[in-house]
Amino acid sequence: MSALRTALVGRAVLRFDGPGVDGPAPSLGRVIEHVNRTGRRIQIGWDDGLILHTRLGLAGAWHLYREGEPWRKPFAQVRVAITVRGWVAACFNAPVVETYREFDRHRHPSFGRTAPDLSGRGPDVAGCAQRLGGYHDRDAPVLDVLLDPHVVVGLGNVQRSEVLWRCGLHPFARVGDLTSGECLQLVGTAAALLQRNADYALAADPVDTRDDLVVYGRNGQRCGRCGDTIQVRRIGEHQRVLYWCAGCQTAHDPHQVELDEAPMDPRPAAARYVVDSPWRRSDLAG
Ligand SMILES: [Zn+2]
Repeated sequence: MSALRTALVGRAVLRFDGPGVDGPAPSLGRVIEHVNRTGRRIQIGWDDGLILHTRLGLAGAWHLYREGEPWRKPFAQVRVAITVRGWVAACFNAPVVETYREFDRHRHPSFGRTAPDLSGRGPDVAGCAQRLGGYHDRDAPVLDVLLDPHVVVGLGNVQRSEVLWRCGLHPFARVGDLTSGECLQLVGTAAALLQRNADYALAADPVDTRDDLVVYGRNGQRCGRCGDTIQVRRIGEHQRVLYWCAGCQTAHDPHQVELDEAPMDPRPAAARYVVDSPWRRSDLAG
């Protein structure tokens, strides 16, 4: 289970075989955000909210293989197989294998037109930037607005932390405080990141998408820009993970009391959230 997590989390899907899957397949290039186990049920979540749920029952099992390693069960018994860089995770004989979108009201708008998809070819950066700059709730934190499909479609939770860091924005910056130039920069950065991931998935020799992550999963490590310690916190109603550097993500700091009242000691935080950064855990242990 922890091996499955270590192999998959933070990596982009290069190939998805789902002969036994009931529901939509993840898009190639999307990053796996979490792997959770509850009894004989295993859930794999992508950063765009797609969940793969497998109930193993008595006969089902997940196997993890190195790339090119022969499988110990025939392909005919596979219900779903996920290929990432260096690894294939395959689920055999599970009675229930289904995918669905995690309920999130930001992702299930009851009104309005959704925005252009930033992960497609030739994304409408200016159009999305305009939606961001003209957002109806001027006090909404940018980090929430980035997941609103009326503003941007295609950005997931992993890239959200990355985009905010790259733009030096405070994670709780208010959308109404951004200049039009900053909106363009934010959306352009997001589009570039999504495009890179899509290109990786198609490359003959794909690179490790984790190498691109500068804050996500790196809690307790030094920030590559300012040397401060990268922090982590669970936020919002879905308790999604946010990584950021308080040292250099200072633009449009709203001076929220909440952040000041509960400063996080990086070391206990790193220990508490180490499950969120499994590849770091193995690095630290080694
Ligand atoms: Zn920093």
